[in-house]
Amino acid sequence: MISRKSKPVDYYVRLVYSNSFTRESMEIYRQKARDAEEFVCIEQDQLPAGQHMIEFLSATNRTLPGIVAEMKRSFGFVLDNTFDHHLVPVYIEKLFDLCLEVRKIHPWWAASLPLGQLWKNINDYSFYSIHPSPYLIETYDEVDRLLNEETCWRTVVDSLQSVISRLDAYIHCLKSFEDALTFCLDKSTLEPLSGLSTLQRAFVFQSFFDDLLLNSSNVKLTLHLQETGSSPLGTTVTRTHLHGSDESYLQATENKNMDFNSIFYGSQAIGEIRDLVSMVEGKKVEMGVSIILQSPDDIYMVCSYSFFRLLCSNVRIKRCRNCGEYFVPLNRSDEQYCCRMQKNGKRCRDLDYSDKIDTDKLLSIYRTAYKTHNARKQRTKKNNINAEEKFKSWIVFAKQLLEHAKAGELSIEEYSELIRK
Ligand SMILES: [Zn+2]
Repeated sequence: MISRKSKPVDYYVRLVYSNSFTRESMEIYRQKARDAEEFVCIEQDQLPAGQHMIEFLSATNRTLPGIVAEMKRSFGFVLDNTFDHHLVPVYIEKLFDLCLEVRKIHPWWAASLPLGQLWKNINDYSFYSIHPSPYLIETYDEVDRLLNEETCWRTVVDSLQSVISRLDAYIHCLKSFEDALTFCLDKSTLEPLSGLSTLQRAFVFQSFFDDLLLNSSNVKLTLHLQETGSSPLGTTVTRTHLHGSDESYLQATENKNMDFNSIFYGSQAIGEIRDLVSMVEGKKVEMGVSIILQSPDDIYMVCSYSFFRLLCSNVRIKRCRNCGEYFVPLNRSDEQYCCRMQKNGKRCRDLDYSDKIDTDKLLSIYRTAYKTHNARKQRTKKNNINAEEKFKSWIVFAKQLLEHAKAGELSIEEYSELIRK
């Protein structure tokens, strides 16, 4: 049962858009330990503005529908078999695992789908439902136990229901975002729109296809000044710092409003401020806008904001010539490759400069190896009854290699070395 599993830790994702408008950075914070109030920055990367959303949309639209369909099947069972003590707990555990699967799709999901409360509800339910219940051993009151079990079951069902309907809504909403992305920003599609700007295309999309797109979102932005290029990796922040204060800005400033004239020209604290001034001198400071992802609604908010920025900066997105995924060109409009890391540890972009994949060459290596293996089969088949079988399995192997090489996961040297075997 679920109680054997430990409570999942919380994550926060902070997106920082600096005043350069061309790049954005993503910081991932992980809770230091279960129930800890402190979070540590475990990852940071910087990509062209809008690229994080593009990758989020393609990862989600590829995987989320399948997971949600499975959730609905298991949830249907839980609803139909209220007090099946053997199978309902199994299905509830499976549903919890599926929630964890969703969190693995992308860091934005990990941050926006906190599971602590659901985990607690499920644990409460198992306390009363497992046999023999620890509760029963203490009190021997079966009627009470059943009542408690029913209440807890109801709570679990309600919280699962709310997760599933939220995810279900996102399936449609995020598909529409991806469509809008192609419609508004991909110049190579929809020839009749070629004379329109990105904003004009967005207007057509919103008016005709999806009047709800970008139509409502409370974007919770934080503005702050920061040192240019300072990395938060490894730094620790507290939950309240990430959440922001509940106290309104107006009330907060009242307490901080010190008279700078008396500080600068008076006798108090003058050293401190002078130290700070000399520290800032010679350092580059930029203005950042940041958004924190922490609850399910934040996914919609951050997609809307990223999309808004993409539309306003009039960028055009392209499909990468290597992996076929969308990317935002950063330096030149004629860029052909994205900066995604492939399985071979190289970025698609690196191919642009070094060994571009030469499909003809890969095929000719394949043909040569095929002839060699075929000739060997002919020579040996009289003495070796497995020769035909061996040759067939070599073909399967060689075709897989060819696919890997085409995908840029093998260099030409590695490929021609391996295919000879
Ligand atoms: Zn690529």
